[in-house]
Amino acid sequence: EERPRRRARALAGSSGEGATKDGRKVKLLANIGTAADAESAAMDLEGSGLFRTEFLFLDREQAPSVEEQTETYTSVLKSFGDRRVVVRTLDAGADKPLAFADLGPEENPALGQRGVRLTQVREELMDNQLAALAAAREAVPESDLWVMAPMVATTEEARWFVDKCRAVGLPKAGIMVETPAAAIRSANVLAIADFASIGTNDLSQYTMAADRLEGDLAPLLSPWQPAVLSMIRETCRGGDATGKHIGVCGEAGGDPLMALVLVGLGVSSLSMAPSKVAAVRAALRLHDFETCKQMANYAVDAWSAKEAREAALRLADPVLRDLL
Ligand code: PEP
Ligand code: MG
Repeated sequence: EERPRRRARALAGSSGEGATKDGRKVKLLANIGTAADAESAAMDLEGSGLFRTEFLFLDREQAPSVEEQTETYTSVLKSFGDRRVVVRTLDAGADKPLAFADLGPEENPALGQRGVRLTQVREELMDNQLAALAAAREAVPESDLWVMAPMVATTEEARWFVDKCRAVGLPKAGIMVETPAAAIRSANVLAIADFASIGTNDLSQYTMAADRLEGDLAPLLSPWQPAVLSMIRETCRGGDATGKHIGVCGEAGGDPLMALVLVGLGVSSLSMAPSKVAAVRAALRLHDFETCKQMANYAVDAWSAKEAREAALRLADPVLRDLL
C-alpha cells in the first residue's frame, strides 16, 4: 500500500483532545505570531501555547502603543474563547532584531542583551506590554491568559517578571526555559514562576553551543542530542518537585516521535505549528504513558542523537512510521 494512503489512515479520526492511549491528557496547542494566525488556529485546537508577540513589533520605527497592543491581544483572546492562550512577552535581539529596541551593536548577539534582559534595560517595553495584556484580559472575561518571559536565566529575572505580572493582576506568570541555567536550576525558577515552557530551539542552541541560524550545524542542534534531552529531564524534575506545569513550545514538540519522548519525560502540553497537530495527536493515541516513559529513559541514556532516536523508534507502534 502506498505511503500517502497509509498516512491518511493513520491520521483518520485525529481530532479532539490530546491524550495517550491510556488517557493521560496532553494539551495540544498552536504556535502563533499574529491575530490572523489565531483565528485560523483556533478552530480545532485546545489553545495557543506560544504567541510570539514580537511579530507585532517587526518593521516598526516605534513600539506600538498600549491601545494598539490591547486591541491585538483582545482579538487573539476572543479567537480562543475560554481556551488557554500563552503569550510570550517581547523576545527581541539576536535572531529577532527590532529597530526601536536596539541597544547598539554587539559582538555576540545571541549571548547579548536579548529577551528578558533587553526588557530589563528598556523597562517601559515590558510595562506597556503587560498593561495591554491585563486590559485585554479584562475585555475578555472568559479568557484563560497565561503570560511568560523569554530567555530567563536567573531567579532574579524570574522574580522581576513575576512581580510585574502580579502588580497588574495577571494571574499566570511563567518563564521560558531556553538556557541551560534555567533548565538545571528549574526547581528554583519554578518556585517563583507559575509554570515553565521549554523553548527547545534556543535550549538546543545554548546547550550545544551551536548557532541555530547556521544550517551546517543542524546535526548538533537536534533535540535528540542526549545532552538536550538531559536538560529537558532536569527541567521536568523541577516541575515535579514544585508541582508546576511544564510545556514545550519549540519545534521539537511537532515531531510525533519526539512528542512521545517529551510526554514520557513529564511534559504536559505541546505547542507547535498548527499543521503538525494532527500527526502528534494520532501518535499519542497509539501509545500508553508507560511506553512514552520507557522511550524517554532509553533516549536520555543513549550516547548519540542517532541512537536516541532509534531507541525511541524501536518501542513505537509500527503505524507511527507512517506519521513521521
Ligand atoms: C524556542 O527557542 O524554542 C522558542 C520557542 O522560541 P523562538 O523559536 O521564538 O526563539
Ligand atoms: Mg527562543
